Amino acid sequence: MRFIYPQGKRKALTFSYDDGQIYDRRLAALFREAGMKATFHLNSGTLEQGEGSVYVGTGELDQVYQGHEIACHGVFHRNPTILSAQQLVLELQEDRKALEKLTGKLVQGLSYAFGNYDQEVICLAKKLGIKYSRTVQGTGGFFPPADFMAWHPTCHHGDRLLELGDQFLKAPDFYELPLMYVWGHSYEFGVSGDWGVIEAFVRKMEGKEDIWYATNMEICRYIEAVRAQEFSGDGLTMYNPTAVEVWVSAKGGILTVRPGETKYIGER
Ligand SMILES: [Zn+2]
Repeated sequence: MRFIYPQGKRKALTFSYDDGQIYDRRLAALFREAGMKATFHLNSGTLEQGEGSVYVGTGELDQVYQGHEIACHGVFHRNPTILSAQQLVLELQEDRKALEKLTGKLVQGLSYAFGNYDQEVICLAKKLGIKYSRTVQGTGGFFPPADFMAWHPTCHHGDRLLELGDQFLKAPDFYELPLMYVWGHSYEFGVSGDWGVIEAFVRKMEGKEDIWYATNMEICRYIEAVRAQEFSGDGLTMYNPTAVEVWVSAKGGILTVRPGETKYIGER
């Protein structure tokens, strides 16, 4: 058997955009209108600057980011690796609390400000309930991360985006749970006025039957659920101890194993 994504999709595509500047309005709409989902990592401390600011305002979060995920990026975008533990707690925990208050949802995702992190930062973020955090180290590859607390993206949108998109569309069948993860800042398009590359990428990738368009958190939850599956000694029966329905492709076709269910999966 092989694990596949929800609704029997073979691949997943996600985006991660930082800093919450006003150009997110156009970018979030571009993704939404194409049926794609993204995660926007916001600094809660800069959202309150009001009219005329380059940052999105607190009153428009629901509208701007509708259908997407809002996640943390630190209250004031401070460098995580130079902060004392106490200051890092404030930077992360207060960001979570503020964004949760504004969205009415659980906020459990993070991207490291400046891409900076170390083991102490990871350890502390996990203790504060953060489930994943993105780095800025593009891999050029399509594998889910070994560690969601050091989630290396596939690429920045300025790094061979269209070429990597073509490679992803042609990813061979032996890849299990292939994932393309693109990151950047919307101001990189907004300030220059050049939206060409991201618009071309969205046109290339939209409406694909075999792609699951999901937020960072949805992908993290799904892969963590896959990793938590338990099997009989012969590997042919699967028990799903999680709260997430898990999809597999097996000899008998596409199967789902519901939360709490034990099911004969069979061979490939
Ligand atoms: Zn940033």
